[in-house]
Amino acid sequence: MKSESVPVGGYIRSWCTRCREMRDHVVALVEDDRPRRVTCQTCKGTHLYRPNPPRSRSTASAGVSRPGSQVAEWEDLIAMADLEKVKPYAMKHAFSAGDVVNHKVFGIGIVVQEVDDQKVQISFQDGVRLLVCSHRRS
Ligand SMILES: [Zn+2]
Repeated sequence: MKSESVPVGGYIRSWCTRCREMRDHVVALVEDDRPRRVTCQTCKGTHLYRPNPPRSRSTASAGVSRPGSQVAEWEDLIAMADLEKVKPYAMKHAFSAGDVVNHKVFGIGIVVQEVDDQKVQISFQDGVRLLVCSHRRS
């Protein structure tokens, strides 16, 4: 039985969450015989191994609320997020899915879902939180 295991330091084709393209990567961490973290040879960024390109932002954020996988999800979201566009979190601001926010208590988070007009689900490093914000419906 030939598995696809690649040792640390081996080359592998992975989706680069920064370049947003399939790129050659070097395996940085192996878990259970599978590449876990990889380093992009183009941007030198290290991120989770993704054998396939993400389908889209909206489907990628589905099913986010399993607590066990939370940190990996957050890392994944952060890796894909545009960190140059971080906005400070404030209740008076409106947020939409995919926004990156900097909350003064919880830190950097990614808006995963707009729940209703006044609530958004934001994935922080320690889990998904429901936060209140305004969508300017005065
Ligand atoms: Zn890259």
